[in-house]
Amino acid sequence: MTDLKPLKQLEDRLGGEVKIIPMAPMAQYTTLRLGGPADLLAEPDSPETLTRLLEEAHRLEIPVTLIGHGSNLLVKDGGIRGLVIRICREMRRIEVKGNTIRAQAGAMLSSLAMTAAENSLGGLTFASGIPGTVGGGVYMNAGAYGGEMGQVVTLVEGVDLSGRPFRYAGEEMQFSYRHTRLMEEDKIVTHVTCQLPNANREELIKEMVELNRRRAEKQPLTLPSAGSTFKRPVGGYASALVDECGLKGVSVGGAQVSEKHAGFLVNRGGTAADFLALIAHVQKVVFEKKGIVLEPEVRILGEDAPVTPV
Ligand SMILES: Cc1cc2nc3c(=O)[nH]c(=O)nc-3n(C[C@H](O)[C@H](O)[C@H](O)COP(=O)(O)OP(=O)(O)OC[C@H]3O[C@@H](n4cnc5c(N)ncnc54)[C@H](O)[C@@H]3O)c2cc1C
Repeated sequence: MTDLKPLKQLEDRLGGEVKIIPMAPMAQYTTLRLGGPADLLAEPDSPETLTRLLEEAHRLEIPVTLIGHGSNLLVKDGGIRGLVIRICREMRRIEVKGNTIRAQAGAMLSSLAMTAAENSLGGLTFASGIPGTVGGGVYMNAGAYGGEMGQVVTLVEGVDLSGRPFRYAGEEMQFSYRHTRLMEEDKIVTHVTCQLPNANREELIKEMVELNRRRAEKQPLTLPSAGSTFKRPVGGYASALVDECGLKGVSVGGAQVSEKHAGFLVNRGGTAADFLALIAHVQKVVFEKKGIVLEPEVRILGEDAPVTPV
């Protein structure tokens, strides 16, 4: 049972300066379109309001969960206790100076890639179709078509959960496949800087259009999903393994292995419990038939729904 008093205190203290939503339905804040409510969801519009929120949550001992655009999240049906901080639309400024581009964490990767291209800067075309924020992209070391954030990021700035600032040079981030040191450190990204090579504007735009055409051709973009559910295992592709095991189209409740791309699980009116059961089923079958353990790429947050007595 959540202690509502500190949450109410936080809302009373900061509600005038930050957008705060009580009992926020996480289905509205995730591309998978499911999950129970967050006790409180706040959307800071500046690094300063973010710090105020963190300091207040720390003082009131309220647990904090950070999200971006919610495109790599599976939120359980019981929702998220405490405060969810969403860094997305309200913090999305992007600045270009010469070959350097600096973005607030809530800017979308597509905007970052497009701004770079418009300024004749290359290196980010791979990111143009990844439907997440710059902060989420750096946290995940998001990548596609041979590129990943770690190749272009030179500086990551942010704060820890008590509001203390940090700065990591790109080399200090320990970027590896869908991994960065932030995953072990509970740190929040506020700004990301990339150093980019000069390139031809028209060619960059043409390349992005082509990559996005390939995406739309292969991926089930018209159904809610969180992208590739599993990480690429050593020496293979998760989608090929799932397909070879005959799992394309298999469902648990309203969660389905996409018929178009076996690496995506799509939402056809399911619950988080359906998705967790489908993930476990796919992992079991792939392990039995191929001897390979598939690890989720999607981040699982929150609590199971309480069991109602019959
Ligand atoms: C249709 C589709 C296609 C996709 N294609 C790709 C692809 O090609 N390549 C790829 O890598 N991914 C892909 N994804 C997954 C997803 O878009 C990326 O992982 C993206 O980087 C997540 O960003 P986000 O802002 O949505 O983060 P969220 O999903 O909100 O969060 C993901 C993780 O990042 C953390 N986080 C978010 N913002 C911050 C921040 N400011 N500071 C610290 N931590 C933060 C969260 O705590 C969470 O642990 C796809 C998803 C979809 C739905």
